[in-house]
Amino acid sequence: MKTHQERMAKKKEVIDKRIASATEERGVLILLKGNGKGKSSSAFGTMARCVGHGKKAAVIQFVKGRTETGEYKLFRDHALIDWHVMGHGFTWETQDKEQDIAAAKKAWQIAEALLQDDRYEMLVFDEMSYMFKYKYLELAPVLEALKNRPKNQNVMITGRVMPEGLEEIADTISSIRDERHAFRLGVKAQAGIEY
Ligand code: ATP
Ligand code: MG
Repeated sequence: MKTHQERMAKKKEVIDKRIASATEERGVLILLKGNGKGKSSSAFGTMARCVGHGKKAAVIQFVKGRTETGEYKLFRDHALIDWHVMGHGFTWETQDKEQDIAAAKKAWQIAEALLQDDRYEMLVFDEMSYMFKYKYLELAPVLEALKNRPKNQNVMITGRVMPEGLEEIADTISSIRDERHAFRLGVKAQAGIEY
C-alpha cells in the first residue's frame, strides 16, 4: 500500500508534466452554458479579474433584461471597460421581431469591430446564443470573425444552449447544471443576487 506521501508525489509528477506541456500563450474562447444560475456572473467575474490586471475589456449584452444590474452600475464608468446594452427586454416579452433583428445586427456590428481590435483583451458577449436560436444572426460570419480575432484576445459567450459550430471552435466550455434554484422555492429575484 502506497503512503499518502507517495501518492501525492505521483500526483505532483503528473500535474507538473501537464503544466510543462501547456506552453502556448494565446487568447481563448470560453462558452458558459446550461440552465443553472451562474453564467453571466462567471463571465463578469472573469472580466473583473482581467481588468484587475490592467487589461482592457468590452461587454455586449445581446438581450436586455434589467438595465441597472449591479455589475453594470459597478463597471459602466470603469476606464478599462466599454459596456454596450443592446436588445429590448427578455425574449418572451418581445413583440416586435423586426426591431429585435435590427438590434441584433447593430450589436453584431459593434462585436465585429471589437473582434478586430487588439487593444481589447477580454470581450464578453452576454446572452449571444439567443441570437442564433431565434435566427436573428447568422452563425457563419460570427465563426469567421472569432477565428480571425487578434491572438491575445479572450472571448466569453454566455447563453443556455450553444450552437454546435461555436462549441467546435471553443477552447473552454463550462456547462452549469440547474440542480436547484431559490425561485422555485418561492424566493423573489433579489438585487445583488439575480441582478
Ligand atoms: P447569473 O446572471 O446570475 O449568473 P445566468 O446568466 O446563469 O445567471 P440567465 O439564464 O442569464 O442566468 O438568467 C438570468 C436571470 O435568471 C438571473 O437573474 C438568474 O439568477 C436567473 N436564473 C438563472 N438560472 C435560473 C434558473 N434555473 N431558475 C430560475 N432563475 C434562474
Ligand atoms: Mg445570463
